[in-house]
Amino acid sequence: MKPSPTEGYTTPARPTRITAGRDRPRILTDFDGVWTRLEGQAQAVGDARVSRLAGISGWDPDRIARCLERVAAAVAAHPLEHGWRNGGRITAYADEDPFLMNSALVNGVGLVAAGGDRECQALAARLEARGHGDLTRLGSEIFLEASRTFLERNGHEMVEGAAAILEALLQVADVVFCTNFAADAVARTWARHGVALDGTDPRVSLHGNARKQDLGGGAPEHRTFGGRPVAVDRPFYRKVLLSEMPNIVVGDVFSLDLALPLALRETVPELRGLRCCLCRTPYTPGWALDLCGSGRVPGLAGIETAGDLEALVS
Ligand SMILES: [Mg+2]
Repeated sequence: MKPSPTEGYTTPARPTRITAGRDRPRILTDFDGVWTRLEGQAQAVGDARVSRLAGISGWDPDRIARCLERVAAAVAAHPLEHGWRNGGRITAYADEDPFLMNSALVNGVGLVAAGGDRECQALAARLEARGHGDLTRLGSEIFLEASRTFLERNGHEMVEGAAAILEALLQVADVVFCTNFAADAVARTWARHGVALDGTDPRVSLHGNARKQDLGGGAPEHRTFGGRPVAVDRPFYRKVLLSEMPNIVVGDVFSLDLALPLALRETVPELRGLRCCLCRTPYTPGWALDLCGSGRVPGLAGIETAGDLEALVS
């Protein structure tokens, strides 16, 4: 049977790795949002958010949409209070990408309800009465279901020239993909573009189910970037970073991808020369772009596309 790209959303108990050799500069890069475009999948998730909440609550979709607009206004007014939560803590902010916004909007129904908003109180009560009192979990379910359907129909939408960019990069560096997505699914996506990520090419390897969002393993720890506290106690991602010891780390979501590498740069001598690159996307928030300004955060720079990486190591 033909494998489905959405098998990537099943989560094995432990991070998986398809691996190979070393000897050259090592780039550890995120996958979604750096090598792919998120817009189509994000639209599908947004549509599903309204229809699923309408289906559970019995409300008209227009009423759901209006209610979510109130939550979106609260998110915009208080951006530090909304995001994707892990163990109750914000692991990435709502405004960092559209998938994070989905989680924040669903979870935000409860937060805005707690603030006294009658319409959100009514919706939250309906959802709870129908078995969906855990709104963080409901947000994840909506994301996973909508993404699965979208990717079954469309697959990942790669950025223009992705395979050629990767091949050029592999001439001058080793590349390690580190993604929350499942390794097998990412490998299949690359295989469709003629790139073998099955361990046969020693220049490229893959960590899937990296669980970058998972916090804990000790006392809560954060660094402040641009006035925002960002959690850096990410034990699963930390383990990958310390095992790979990359020269460059690349991501499109500052909190998930880059905050911990920047923290390790300060504390792990072997990572003192680490460079971190925020890949600019249509949704990258201004506060994250500002961090990339010259000298603002030592070791951090912005890139426009993955194609800019070749020049960094050539
Ligand atoms: Mg990403």
